[in-house]
Parts: sequence; structure tokens; C-alpha cells
Amino acid sequence: MFVINVILDTPLSRSYSYTNPQPLNIGSRVIVDFNNRQQAGFVSQALAAADYHELPLDKLKPLLAVDNESTTLPSELWKLGGFTASYYHHSLGACLFCSVPTLFRQPKLLPEYIPLNRNYYQAIETSTPPKLRKNSRQQQLWQALTTTPLNMAQISDIGGKTAPAIINAWLAAGIITVCPPADYATTTIPLTLNNEQQQVVDDFCQQLTKFHAGLLYGITGSGKTEVFLQIIERVLAKRQQVLVLVPEINLTPQMGARFSQRFPHAEILQLNSEVSDKQRLHAWYSAKEGHCNIILGTRLSVFTTFKNLGLIIVDEEHDDSFKQSEGLRYHARNLAVWRSQQLNIPVLLASATPSLETLYNYQQGKYQLYKLTTRANPLAQLPQVELINLRHFPVNHAGISQVALEEINACLARQEMALVFINRRGYAPVITCYECGWVSSCRNCSTKMVYHHNIKRLKCHHCGHSEAVPSLCPKCRNQYLHTVGHGTQKLEEFLTQNFPTARIRRVDRDTTTSKKAWQQLYQEIHNSQVDILVGTQMLAKGHDFARLTLVIGLNLDNALFSPDYHSGVDMYNGLTQIAGRAGRAETPGKVLLQTDYPDHPVYQFLQQHDFNGFVNYTLKERYDNKLPPFSHSAIIRLSTHREPLLKEAAQELRAIAHKISHTGVTLFPPQPAIIYKLHRKFRAQMEISAASRRDLHDYLNQLISSFTPPIKKVTIAIDVDPIEI
Ligand code: ADP
Ligand code: ZN
Ligand code: ZN
Repeated sequence: MFVINVILDTPLSRSYSYTNPQPLNIGSRVIVDFNNRQQAGFVSQALAAADYHELPLDKLKPLLAVDNESTTLPSELWKLGGFTASYYHHSLGACLFCSVPTLFRQPKLLPEYIPLNRNYYQAIETSTPPKLRKNSRQQQLWQALTTTPLNMAQISDIGGKTAPAIINAWLAAGIITVCPPADYATTTIPLTLNNEQQQVVDDFCQQLTKFHAGLLYGITGSGKTEVFLQIIERVLAKRQQVLVLVPEINLTPQMGARFSQRFPHAEILQLNSEVSDKQRLHAWYSAKEGHCNIILGTRLSVFTTFKNLGLIIVDEEHDDSFKQSEGLRYHARNLAVWRSQQLNIPVLLASATPSLETLYNYQQGKYQLYKLTTRANPLAQLPQVELINLRHFPVNHAGISQVALEEINACLARQEMALVFINRRGYAPVITCYECGWVSSCRNCSTKMVYHHNIKRLKCHHCGHSEAVPSLCPKCRNQYLHTVGHGTQKLEEFLTQNFPTARIRRVDRDTTTSKKAWQQLYQEIHNSQVDILVGTQMLAKGHDFARLTLVIGLNLDNALFSPDYHSGVDMYNGLTQIAGRAGRAETPGKVLLQTDYPDHPVYQFLQQHDFNGFVNYTLKERYDNKLPPFSHSAIIRLSTHREPLLKEAAQELRAIAHKISHTGVTLFPPQPAIIYKLHRKFRAQMEISAASRRDLHDYLNQLISSFTPPIKKVTIAIDVDPIEI
């Protein structure tokens, strides 16, 4: 008899013991009974019963089932889980289950891996042939595999429906082998790189055999994707796999399409929120078995396990969607760097506006800098940025100035495309009564509900709650209610009236969420069927629209005065990305930014395209205030449905936090969150910072073990390296 220790998805970082007649490998996926419920877990240890002394054996329950070997966690993932757990102060079980496909959580055995890829299979020459009935399909299949490599389609032709399962069994028996396509020949011909691009590819590829962190800092339109493709080609040629991480919003088909055109024989799997649980499971197996060549995915893909990973690329590395904002609050870019260090492989972080943290790491000598300073299309120039001073040029009721309208007019006359950007979807951010001051607040959150004109409803963008627009003021029964402020819908309505012949498309989370909607939009833009795009930040990333020559930004100033110190950087990055959509082809582009504060440094740096100046300015500010990256910080977040408990918990947290020795650590007093009430929960937070990361983690470990919220109804979460305060 053996005692098997199992890690389960529980908040406690401990294992649970079960018995089994056989020992099991570390990482095996098992099903157990836990508190009278079946649960899946991973084996962390197997010991002979004689070596186990904690409890009498008959107190332990037997394991219920052991899953197939493809579901076993490899040691690398186990280590990654351990690191993630200690860095983000989360339980090991929760981290492990976060890092595997959702289906792993179900207390059920999972289907065996059936390779569906384009790889070829071949009998191993020295193997003993299986005993098969003469002239059976299996026998014919075996015969065929001994003569030539076959892909799955050919195999199914010979072996019928059960062929994939047979192949799987033969692979397991070690009598056949996978041969990846020998030839990664490209169908789209690689572009001839310009000197800068070539230099980057050559320099980076000198260092493909060991850990090496590169920062590819290339202006918008400098051709970073082509650089990726050519580096990836060299890694694939070494029969290694590649992981490419992209931001959440990038559901756009463009990148995936370019990859498949360039590497038609490679198995490329895309992992994003549109992928089903089953497809995710397949991708996990396929990458683990070494069949899938490239994974192109959002932050969760950083946990994919590979048989032979040779390179990680993080595109738009500054993007906030790499940080998960609830549960396990990990940062996929940072974990990607850690993983490549562990695996001793290169990692490439790319952006037109690298994060301060990454730039700081470069200044500290941790990353090597690769620069692309010109647009790849030699005729394309960076757009000219102009500031429209709203004190001199007031806006109309839709939030747009006359100057901007004239520019749109001229753009349409030249038969070019314009983009009008406003980072608020809906019609107007709030409805109010001028008589009594009533405003459309959300009943679940301390936020205002946005008016959506097309459905005549108020919607909370934080919790999703929606209700009909009241016909009278709910407070004083006045019948005239007013919309205040501007959103994409109001803008669209106004532009449609003002430019009746223009073809206008609105792009925001209400119109364009699915891949299909994007594809359709691309097609229309490609066919020159769009004259004006109206939209939110969704339009900013990675798109390449040749006819787009005018970008107009409205309502930008809010971010300048946010209490969150991250907002200046977010704003600069967002506007650079948006501006970077203009003038990507031969016709020069123009960017107009409407503001009340044209002298603000953020706008001045934007206008000069002076990212370095902006970075130095911001780093100085961060340095003076001892903010990250010059310190390390964490936020303890408390939330509860019951408001009085929040105060109590916050006071207790404060008291305990001060009692623990905290030399080298700065404790800030607990504060209400910026959005105090969200989804009916009241929220408070306490920030902790330290000059040394070690001090911060040591302190957090102590704090967590001494602080339990006074009552179970208060949730406590730890956010290390928070990106929002
Ligand atoms: P980035 O991601 O840096 O913003 P892209 O990779 O989208 O830029 O490239 C911008 C445009 O330049 C694309 O249309 C791309 O096809 C083109 N391009 C890239 N490299 C070259 C090159 N070496 N020669 C000509 N065109 C190029
Ligand atoms: Zn009123
Ligand atoms: Zn709400």
C-alpha cells in the first residue's frame, strides 16, 4: 500500500493524503473524495505506507481514479506553479489549476489525446510489429506506415474512424514515431528586411541557444511582426516550439492569418477567450507532446507546457491585459521572462511604448535593447500631431470642435478614411435632472449608469446591470431629464447627421466583440467601404489600415487628473497606439487631440513623438515619490457585501500590519477603493511598499499568516505589483 499526497484546488497551500495500491508519478492527475465531494488533484508525493506516520492508514480514503498520462503535470509546470504561488501569495493548488485547461477541474477522467495535427507518423524500423489480423484495416495501416510517413488525413483514409486512437496506442507502445514536417517552406515570401530589421533579426538570432531577454522597441509601423516571423522561422528550423503572447483585445484575425500564411506546414494554435474548453485541452496536449509548433495566445497561454520550447515573444508587452485583475493576479509578461530563464531560452518583449518596468530593467542591464526607429514602409512617416486648444475652439453638443469637423470634411473629400476616438461607449455617460440633481447611479456600484440610445436603456459598465430610462425624474417627477457628456453612440449619431453620405462604422464593445465581427469590419475597410470609424481603445492595437490618414481624439483630459499614478503612462501609450494607426502607407497622416490643457507635458511629449522624454519625465516623478519601479508594492484588497464589516476588517488589518516588524517596509493607511462599491460589494485596500522585493515578500508572508479577517464574510486578496490602485 502507498500513501499518495495530492494537491487540490483549495485556498490552503497543503496536500491531502490518500491510499493507493501502486505508487504514482509526481504530477499525475487523480480523482479523490474531498469532504464528500469528488475533486481532481495532482500527486505531489508518493510514499510507502511504512514511511507515513501522520494518521492511522485506515483513516485515509483510497484514491478514486488515476487519469491518463497525457494529463500529468510536467516538472517544469510544477515549478512554475510553485514560483507563481510564492510570488503572488496564492495557494499552490489554486495556481496549478489556474495554469491547466478548465476541463482539468472537473472530477472526471479526461479523453485521451488524439493528435489532429499536420504531423507525419512513421513506424520505427527496429520495432517489433504488432500482431494484427491479416488484411484488416489495422494491418494495412501498419504496412503503410512501415513504408512511408503519413499524415493524419492519409492515416484516416486507410484506417477509418478508429485510426487516430490506434495511432495513439502505437505511439504509446513506442512502435511508431512522430516526424514533424521536415520542410517549413513558406508560401508568403518573407519581406526583404530593411537594415534596422535585419540587424535586429541577426543580433537576436546569435543568441538563440540560451536565456537572453530582448526588448524590441520599435515605433508604430516599424515592422515588428515581420521581425518576429523571421526570428520564429529560425527557431522552427531547429525543430523547436514558439510561444507568442498577445494582448487580450487582439482577437483580430490579422496576426494569426499572417502566421499561417508564412508557416503553412506548421501547426499554429490560437488561444483566446473564444476558444472552447475542448480546444484548449487539445492545445495543451498538443504542445506538451511537441506536435503544435506555435501557440499564439493571450495571457493564460503563458502556462502552456511545451515539449521543446525555443522562444517566447510578448507582443505589446506594456499592455495591461497581461495582468490578471482577479483571483490569481499574475502578470503574464513577467512570468514569461521567469519561464525563459528557467528553460534557458530567449524571450523577446516588443512594444512601441515599452512599460516603465521593462525600460528600467533595460537600464539596469537586465535586457538587451533592439531598436526600430523608422517606419518599415519607406514612404510612410509618423503622423503630425496637433493639439486643439478647447479654450479657443469650443466643442459642440457631441463633444467635437469645428476645427476637427473641417478636417474630417477635407479627409472625406480626399477619399481617405478618418478615425474618431473617444474612450467611452454608449450615448452619454450619465443622465441627470437639472431640477433636483438626481443622477443615474448604479444600484450595485458607486458608479454612474451610461445611457445607451439604441436600446433606450441605462447600463452599468462595471457590473452589467441595466434598466429602462425613467420617463420622469425618479426623485422629483420632473419630466425633463438631460444627457451629460459624450459616448461613441452620440458621436456616431452626430456624424451621421453631419456627413449624411459618409459610411460610418462604430467599433466598441457593443458592436465588435467576436472574431466574426472583426473579420467583417476588416473586409469592409479593405474594400474601401468605410469612411469614418468611430470607436474606443479597441481600435488602437495592431491594426494596419492603409487609407486611414486622420485620427481625432476626444475627451482625453480625464486621465490627467486620475488619482492612480499609472494613468499618465496608460494615456500616453493609448494615444501613441491610436495615433500610430494614421499614415501607415504613402499618404501622410495627421492626429488631432482636443484638450483643455495643451501645455500639459503628456501632450507636449506626444506632439514631439518624444517617448524617451516622456519616460524620463515619468521616471523622475516616480523616483521622487518612491513609486515603482523604484520600489516594489502590493495591495491588500478587502471586500464584503456588508459595509460595517469592511471598516472592522480594515482597522484590524491596519493594527496587525503595524504590529509585525516592518523595517524597510512602508505601510499606507487602509483606504476605500477608487470604485468603493462594485457588484454590491464594498471595497477597501491597503498598500504596502518596500525598496527591496525580498523585504516585501517576507513581510507579506508574515502578514498573511497573522491576519484572518474578523468574519468569514470579508474576502481578502493580495495584489502584487498592482497595475491599478
Ligand atoms: P508594427 O507591428 O511595428 O506596428 P507591422 O509589423 O504591422 O508594424 O508593419 C507595418 C507595415 O509595414 C505592414 O504593412 C508590413 O507589411 C510592412 N512591412 C514590414 N516590414 C517591411 C519591409 N521590410 N518592407 C516593406 N514593408 C514592410
Ligand atoms: Zn429631479
Ligand atoms: Zn454597477
